[in-house]
Amino acid sequence: MARYIGATCRLCRRASGKLMLKGERCYTPKCAVERRTRNTAHGRRRRVSDRALQLLEKQKARYTYGLLERQFRGLFSRAEKQAGITGENLQVLLARRLDNVVYSGGFADSRAQARQLILHGHLTLNGKRTDIPSRLVNEGDILRWKESSTRTDYYKQLLESIRGKTVPAWLSLNQETMTARIASLPLPDETMTKFDNKAIVEYYSR
Ligand code: SF4
Repeated sequence: MARYIGATCRLCRRASGKLMLKGERCYTPKCAVERRTRNTAHGRRRRVSDRALQLLEKQKARYTYGLLERQFRGLFSRAEKQAGITGENLQVLLARRLDNVVYSGGFADSRAQARQLILHGHLTLNGKRTDIPSRLVNEGDILRWKESSTRTDYYKQLLESIRGKTVPAWLSLNQETMTARIASLPLPDETMTKFDNKAIVEYYSR
């Protein structure tokens, strides 16, 4: 599976904002965007064209979910074919990706870590092993840890750290059995994304 292998924090600097791609580190003063903001508090602002702003929003969304352009464009085409508002459809499709569900359910600190867990086969979806991070979940799907994976150090630490974690309303997390159920498909405003979906539609409409 092709993926971006450059420096993660560089993506936030390119997108001129915090995309929260590195879990805990993003909340500390070590964050590259925080450091840059402190060092350039008096920097000059550049005029930016509409096209550049649209590109920026598209890149922010793409980097947030860790997708290559081809993958992101494919999801956008799928959103276009669905009934309803394309930008909102895109938001929901992105949120339905299995790696996003693993991250949103609190099983991983970042979407990148969630992808690793899935690729290494630590999780099952509806009782079946799955190693496809891009798979889209449906209402009623149940995500569980594979029996052998519950003996790993990672899982044991997670049992402690997951207590009290809140998850989006569309997910139902059972912290005792460590299962996550898709209670309903996410609504666009439940996806917790920080990009302007209209700008993305405008970007691809030219
Ligand atoms: Fe982005 Fe997190 Fe790196 Fe900060 S620490 S630049 S939010 S990935």
